[in-house]
Amino acid sequence: MPIPRRYSTDAIVLSRFDYGEADRILTLITPLNGKLKAIAKGIRRPTSRIGGSLEPFAELNVVLARGRTFEVVTQVSVGHAWLNLRDSLESAATAWYLAELADRSLEERHGADQVYALLRRAYELLDAGMAPGRVARWFEMHLAEELGVRPEVDRCVECDRSLEVDGRFRWVPPLGGVLCDRCPGPPHDRTGLSLDALKLLKAYQRQDVEALSGLRLSVATEREVESALRDFLRIALERDARSLAFLDEIRTPEAAERHARHERTVLAREAAAEANPSADAPSAEPALSIPT
Ligand SMILES: [Zn+2]
Repeated sequence: MPIPRRYSTDAIVLSRFDYGEADRILTLITPLNGKLKAIAKGIRRPTSRIGGSLEPFAELNVVLARGRTFEVVTQVSVGHAWLNLRDSLESAATAWYLAELADRSLEERHGADQVYALLRRAYELLDAGMAPGRVARWFEMHLAEELGVRPEVDRCVECDRSLEVDGRFRWVPPLGGVLCDRCPGPPHDRTGLSLDALKLLKAYQRQDVEALSGLRLSVATEREVESALRDFLRIALERDARSLAFLDEIRTPEAAERHARHERTVLAREAAAEANPSADAPSAEPALSIPT
């Protein structure tokens, strides 16, 4: 069945950048058509009817007209505005990071209902106040599954033996998971993994988010799993997410102070420039701009 010239869909804004005099180009994720680029004409004029609604961190319903290069946004209404998510800078920065992971994972115009559902759920959780780090780990683990690269945390990736609790483990993202102490593995790209971190990785794979939210964990274990999953996603998506530099920066105490002095956008730009000095992609900078 041919897709109609004009159609309505749920959508979440993944990134956006200003274009021309008053337009804006958006990358949207939609359940059925996956990722797509759309242009919102005249949106930056004060008289624009769609200006206030076409924002990130919300589930929108948009009416799109097919265009040659981009879809054209003709109407927008807000389905769910996750307003609490914006109250914390760490939640908002995490939301951008998750959007960027989703963006990088998808090809344009391939159905993405599962990734859409994951992102939507992650935003609900951030909005409900779940610790951003836990939401991010949960999202990373399940995104990896959606991409067909579920991390192996039950058996050795080389010899396929079950991992014993009294063993020693190494985390080897290029091989897809955990290596037992009997297998040599590659000379590089491996780090030791504690039993607690291994258990937490399993928990992210198996437990529902309510249970994950209530877990009592040491900071060290959370950090270990954070770095393990970041490494894993970096290998799976073939590079670091640009927004990570920003997310890391805002979590330092000095940064918290600086941010109190309303430097959000400036810092985001610095982080983008640092993480991606040869920013040729037009979305490089706007992917980080935190809406105020
Ligand atoms: Zn082994």
